[in-house]
Amino acid sequence: ATEDIASPKRTKELIQKYGFTLKKSLGQNFLIDQNILTKIVSAAELDTGKGALEIGPGIGALTQQLAKTAGRVVAVEIDQRLLPMLKETLGPYPHVSVVHGDVLKTDLRELFEAHFRDVSKVSVVANLPYYVTTPIVMKLLEEKLPLEHIVVMIQKEVADRMAAKPGGKDYGSLSIAVQYYCEPEVVTIVPHTVFIPQPNVDSAVIKLKVRERPPVEVEDESFFFDVVQASFVQRRKTIYNNMAARYFTKETKGQLEGILRNAGIEPSRRGETLSIEEYSVLSRHLAAALK
Ligand code: SAM
Repeated sequence: ATEDIASPKRTKELIQKYGFTLKKSLGQNFLIDQNILTKIVSAAELDTGKGALEIGPGIGALTQQLAKTAGRVVAVEIDQRLLPMLKETLGPYPHVSVVHGDVLKTDLRELFEAHFRDVSKVSVVANLPYYVTTPIVMKLLEEKLPLEHIVVMIQKEVADRMAAKPGGKDYGSLSIAVQYYCEPEVVTIVPHTVFIPQPNVDSAVIKLKVRERPPVEVEDESFFFDVVQASFVQRRKTIYNNMAARYFTKETKGQLEGILRNAGIEPSRRGETLSIEEYSVLSRHLAAALK
């Protein structure tokens, strides 16, 4: 059997052997705890008929566990210096491909076509670089890739925002965007001690089960998300104030109270109290009135 990469000993050995210096600017915090890896991989519900897309394999700690579970694994890594190391650590797994590149600039549809034709379902499983967590997750969702789950280690604070329900300080446009596409669930909170080097924020593993269709009816998605975004521009202000600022003039503002009431929304409420359903109704009423 091949040795697990994710031990402090093996990780340090590999880093030393290749003279590797970790780059903070690339969010390089490597996992050294087998239990956390097991939790991440089992949350993804993989099997040999399924595929896994990993973003940022590092030295291959998680990739190796994915290789043992999934039928096909593709890992996109930005740091060229890691490629020789990955060649060694992932050598024993012929169904794993490492792609060199920036995931934000990668054509993922093309990547799916090239690598995941023979699997029934694909999930993204990763310990994400924290400096680009939100852009990566939003790219995955907005491109509407045929994904089953997205299971990622991220900052705890971001996980809390993704999973937040209306009414609290964590609830905002990120919560609504994520919940429009997925059902989120925080799998576990992760201590600093499972990484080399240790990050200075708390981490969490979040599981996003990608929905087959959105939970609400939205005719114009870009307008819906614009309304959501606009209602949080000034968080402390009412939905009336934020909508007035974005979509109305002094002259046209007179109709806004009626529009809100017709949509069933009290004008004095704040954006952070509105559910996704209420945003869908509001955006429909606004779009009709602004035509
Ligand atoms: N998967 C490894 C683990 O769990 O130990 C490493 C995770 S580390 C938090 C993040 C990894 O993402 C690093 O290997 C880093 O080089 C890579 N990375 C950073 N930005 C990236 C990007 N834009 N596209 C692809 N990979 C990136």
